[in-house]
Amino acid sequence: MPQYNPPLRDMQFVMHEVLKVTDELKILPPHADIDADTINAVLEEGGKFAVEVTFPLNISGDEEGCTLDKTTHEVTPPKGFKEAYAKYVEGGWAALSCDPEYGGQGLPFVVNQCFYEMMNSANQAWTMYPGLSHGAYEALHAHGTDAQKKLYLPKLVSGEWTGTMCLTEPHCGTDLGMLRTKAEPQADGTFKLTGNKIFISAGEHDMTPNILHLVLARLPDAPQGSKGISLFIVPKFNVNEDGSVGSRNGIYCGGLEHKMGIHGNATAQIVLDGAVGTMVGAPNKGLAAMFVMMNAARLGVGNQSLGLTEVAYQNALAYAKDRIQMRSLSGVKAKDKPADPIIVHPDVRKMLLTAKAYAEGGRALAVYCTLLLDKELHHPDEKVRKDSGEIVALLTPIVKAFLTDNGHIATNACMQVFGGHGYIKEWGMEQFVRDNRINMIYEGTNTIQSLDLLGRKVLGNNGATLKKFGKIVGALIAEEGVNEKMAEFINPLAYLADQMTKFTTELGFKGFQNPDEVGAAAVDYLRVAGHLVFGYFWARMAQTALREIAAGNPDPFYLAKVQTARFYFAKLFPETATLMRTARSGSRALMDTDAALA
Ligand SMILES: Cc1cc2nc3c(=O)[nH]c(=O)nc-3n(C[C@H](O)[C@H](O)[C@H](O)COP(=O)(O)OP(=O)(O)OC[C@H]3O[C@@H](n4cnc5c(N)ncnc54)[C@H](O)[C@@H]3O)c2cc1C
Repeated sequence: MPQYNPPLRDMQFVMHEVLKVTDELKILPPHADIDADTINAVLEEGGKFAVEVTFPLNISGDEEGCTLDKTTHEVTPPKGFKEAYAKYVEGGWAALSCDPEYGGQGLPFVVNQCFYEMMNSANQAWTMYPGLSHGAYEALHAHGTDAQKKLYLPKLVSGEWTGTMCLTEPHCGTDLGMLRTKAEPQADGTFKLTGNKIFISAGEHDMTPNILHLVLARLPDAPQGSKGISLFIVPKFNVNEDGSVGSRNGIYCGGLEHKMGIHGNATAQIVLDGAVGTMVGAPNKGLAAMFVMMNAARLGVGNQSLGLTEVAYQNALAYAKDRIQMRSLSGVKAKDKPADPIIVHPDVRKMLLTAKAYAEGGRALAVYCTLLLDKELHHPDEKVRKDSGEIVALLTPIVKAFLTDNGHIATNACMQVFGGHGYIKEWGMEQFVRDNRINMIYEGTNTIQSLDLLGRKVLGNNGATLKKFGKIVGALIAEEGVNEKMAEFINPLAYLADQMTKFTTELGFKGFQNPDEVGAAAVDYLRVAGHLVFGYFWARMAQTALREIAAGNPDPFYLAKVQTARFYFAKLFPETATLMRTARSGSRALMDTDAALA
């Protein structure tokens, strides 16, 4: 059976020692009083919740899956899910970072980020039920009318009801401009929605008395394509004016998908049969409103893989210390045993350190992004708010795609540490691999994230935001450039930062002549950019750790941090050279292949 220990010490290191979040948060009026002890205490309790309540349901939920009663259209999630959800609501966990005006606790996003990382480690499938509600909350908070906010937000904030996002239809996933679900205006100002959605996460369940579906649909006179999409809120049960649950609405689950992983989460086919909804935001501007939810969800999906990377690493590490097999190449290490523990073998260490470096680098990036979200919302200086928003927009596709691709690499490496025992169910490792796989696909595939990064976020504004992030990296390089102890981290980072401008300009120029060049290079480009960002955070983590060591701090935590940074720069970061080369090789080897693909 797998184990999980919340990585509280590492979270504290990132938040308080590297990023000094409380100093930053103090400048933001709603968080002026927050202190490290409060954050740590909340996360300690959150970790207990993850370990004691949802982690024990991870394997059983995977084995049991969800069941649909085809006559009533009701879905029952695995045993224990409903009770765990009741405890989640009772503990006030849904409300952590929500607006106090609607019953939220108003804690900074950073706290939510770390809490959800632990929840994802413990049980991704379960965590998706409340996870989707958060995105719905944010979309409604940003674009809902006062009446909608008053009616629905308190229920989402308390967790009394959950939310979903209904975009995908059988014939359209990436290309939402093709969606067909119709919304007919009614005399009373509501709309009647008709159509079919598929793949809707947490789309139906009995864990809450109501579900709020956020649905994309088309008005009768809507223009074609993505400019003709509007957003609607469609509750499972109509909601009375006083907020109580009313009659059953015409939206139901027509089937459940049978899938590779996240079995405990109901992936529902949703039928809208004249379902009553109200519009959120302006007509035909639904995609923009939904983007609030999608951006939140993209960061959330990166966090799912971060959680799985961490839990897979913890289990692989414990196994590698325990499992004995063969002798170390450099001489016997465990003389009292018939063989050495497999952790003595260099390649086993490489697999473990890969997962560790990706988990800890991912954590630093994710916490940094949520701090930017807090600053974007609350910083008194308008320029800081604007810059924070721009940088988080640049980093969002990297969080989504780089963390989920790394999660794929890491969970597979950790499974490999177990040899054949990783492939069988008993140790839980194959479930981490399966559960992680969807993270690379949904919320816009990682290819789409790469196009978003290179096409829109970088070339779309002539690299202006990338340059802003480059300045942040440049400041660290300038600060540490003469420090010999930092040279092994700063030199490769400085080299890549320097190359990045030329590399980007070159791709932009080729893309201008032939747009397929952007499509051919984008996935490699995102990985290079991901390493630039990780390189920056690993250098900062090494800097903090080296300072502690220099000050005489004997805690082995800091030495471990320096060693992991060393591993990252020596063994993972250099893939940027290959990636730049493959990106530069252009589109011809792909697009002139009609004969090959005939
Ligand atoms: C378990 C699960 C849960 C999900 N949850 C939700 C949910 O809650 N709500 C919801 O609305 N949807 C959900 N989805 C749907 C998910 O977001 C889509 O599957 C995803 O966006 C891809 O769409 P698609 O499957 O139609 O693939 P397609 O759009 O058909 O894409 C197929 C392939 O073509 C590539 N491709 C497409 N266009 C381009 C392009 N322009 N350039 C390069 N490559 C391209 C894609 O990257 C992909 O590799 C879920 C899916 C699954 C499997």
